Amino acid sequence: MPQNNDKKRILIVEDEKNIVQVLAFNIMQAGYAYDIALDGEEGLKKALTGEYDLILLDLMLPKMDGFEVCRRIRQKLSTPVIIVTAREEEVDKILGFDIGADDYVTKPFSIKILLARIKANIRRYSNEMVINDAGVEQDNRIVIRELEIDPDKYQVTNKGVAVDLTKKEYELLFHLASNAGKVFSREELLEQVWGYDGFFGDIRTVDVTVRRLREKLEIDPTKPEYLITKRGVGYLVK
Ligand code: CA
Repeated sequence: MPQNNDKKRILIVEDEKNIVQVLAFNIMQAGYAYDIALDGEEGLKKALTGEYDLILLDLMLPKMDGFEVCRRIRQKLSTPVIIVTAREEEVDKILGFDIGADDYVTKPFSIKILLARIKANIRRYSNEMVINDAGVEQDNRIVIRELEIDPDKYQVTNKGVAVDLTKKEYELLFHLASNAGKVFSREELLEQVWGYDGFFGDIRTVDVTVRRLREKLEIDPTKPEYLITKRGVGYLVK
C-alpha cells in the first residue's frame, strides 16, 4: 500500500513491555509506522539498517545499555535519537556525555510531549537532508574575531584550531552567531534551535548546552567573551 511507504518509521528500543505497548499504540495513532527491539543488541542491529526516521531509546536495557547503543548508532548514522529515561538525574549525564543523543524525555512521560518531540525531531532531520542535498556553493562563513563558523562544512575554528562540537552545540552557536548581538530567551532558543514549542521543552537543555559550548570555546568559561549571558533575559553571541 503506497500510503504506508510514506509513513515515517520509528524504532522503539525498550525492554518494559507495558511501555512498549503504550508507545507503539500512540505512535501508530499519530500516523507513524513503528518497529520494536526489546534489548540493546537487537536495537542497535535494527537501527543500523538505516530504515528509521527516528529512534526512541531506553537507557536501562538488557545486553547493551542505551548509552552504548546511542554511541554506536552515531558512529554510522545521524538519525534522530530520543532517549527515554526513568530518572531525572540521568538528564545531566545524557546531555553531558557526548553520546550524540538529540533529545530526551523522562519517565513517566506525557504522550503529548513525547509526540511533540518526535514531530520536531523528524521535521528538523528532514529539513537538514534537504539543505544537505541542495549543495550550497557560496561562502557562508561567519567570522567573529577569532571564531570562525563554516556552515558548509559544519566546522568551527577558534584561533585557527578546529573545535569539536556536538550537533546541538554547533546548531546553537550557529543560530546565535548568525544573529550576533541579538539576545534570545531560552524559550526562543528551544523553539528555534531545538524546534519545540516552549511548552514542550526543558530550558535546562539550553543552559547545559551553553555551558558545554563555553568550555570548548572560551579561554575562561566563567568570563565568556563570545557566548554572553544577558541576566534575566537570555543569551547572545557578540
Ligand atoms: Ca529498561
